[in-house]
Amino acid sequence: MPNTRAYAVTDAHAPFAPFAFDRREPGPRDVQIALLFCGVCHSDLHTAKSEWPGTVYPCVPGHEMVGKVTRVGAEVTTFKVGDLAAVGCMVDSCMTCESCTAGHEQYCDTFGMVFSYNSPDKHGTTKVTYGGYSSQITVDDRFCLRISSKHVDKVGLAAIAPLLCAGITMYSPLKRWGAGKGKKVGIVGLGGLGHMGVKLSHALGARTALFTTSAGKAEDAKRLGADEVILSKDADAMAKQANSFDLIVDTVSASHDLDAYTSLLKRDGTLVLIGAPATPHPSPSAMNLIFRRRTIAGSLIGGIRETQEMLDFCAEHGIASDVEVIPMQKIDEAYARMVKSDVKYRFVIDLASLGG
Ligand code: NAP
Ligand code: ZN
Repeated sequence: MPNTRAYAVTDAHAPFAPFAFDRREPGPRDVQIALLFCGVCHSDLHTAKSEWPGTVYPCVPGHEMVGKVTRVGAEVTTFKVGDLAAVGCMVDSCMTCESCTAGHEQYCDTFGMVFSYNSPDKHGTTKVTYGGYSSQITVDDRFCLRISSKHVDKVGLAAIAPLLCAGITMYSPLKRWGAGKGKKVGIVGLGGLGHMGVKLSHALGARTALFTTSAGKAEDAKRLGADEVILSKDADAMAKQANSFDLIVDTVSASHDLDAYTSLLKRDGTLVLIGAPATPHPSPSAMNLIFRRRTIAGSLIGGIRETQEMLDFCAEHGIASDVEVIPMQKIDEAYARMVKSDVKYRFVIDLASLGG
């Protein structure tokens, strides 16, 4: 009988269905983890529904994984059986190139990182890697993260899972572009990533504004740490913010007008694109950038070292995700709500619902 229970989609339009497969036996540097919770990222949906090119079916998404270590290889010194462990968006990289050795494995120059799902599986047990909508995973210990039990006692394990993608994906650009005291930071979109962006920007000491298309989210945004909330459909409210931001981090999952945000940046301000829509944004105005030396940048998750730093920062500050815990069987419903921006603010799958 296959050793791993999971849920998979078999094509872009199929609903999720039970699926079983074999994970590899742990090698000397491997950690085997019994998964307890997995967050649901909009990237899972983009992939499962072939909104991005290259999905290989069957597809088992999930890259916000937390669980308990069940076996370790002979050379593993950082984890032991019974420890809590987490896995995020990547499970391997070359580990020798300039990016990897600098701690930016997500930008691996040799063959790119190996994503937790839908990347060729170099171990060959399955055609592509399968993610966290599953009962267990086997991962190289260099791609496993530590979770503090004090943090779990404070916020619960389910609320920590989304830090592995939503948390690090916001923490990394906030740190790189200097979010902190004396800076004005905008977060665009109050979904899974955006709500972590608001919490983290606030905790880093920046004056934090949320841009949203959903008027009903304003109160929540303030509770999460936003100093102000701007309805992006309100042209007057947007105009009042012109030339005032040091940094805007845009998490929107659909294509939209970027000029609306570049014009809110100060001289030398930066708009960082995080959202990865299936269709391109309309071309931004060059004039908007030229006349105030503004920058449009992009950022991809964060490296392993920085992910651990973010988890430790969140533990210290009592930060976690606001989650709605669902059984695996409700995943199609969760996706339908995610498309309608109806997520408060991250779905997390309780993997006990896989049974067994
Ligand atoms: P999510 O929970 O669905 O949140 C996206 C938010 O964007 C929505 O809640 C909504 O916020 C806003 N939005 C959605 N459609 C919109 C539209 N048509 N116009 C304006 N605003 C809209 O998604 P997520 O999991 O946070 O992921 C967001 C994006 O980041 C996805 O494209 C995902 O693939 C990408 N991503 C990138 C990285 C990376 O490393 N760069 C990592 C993870 C995910 P309001 O209701 O507040 O407007
Ligand atoms: Zn993600």
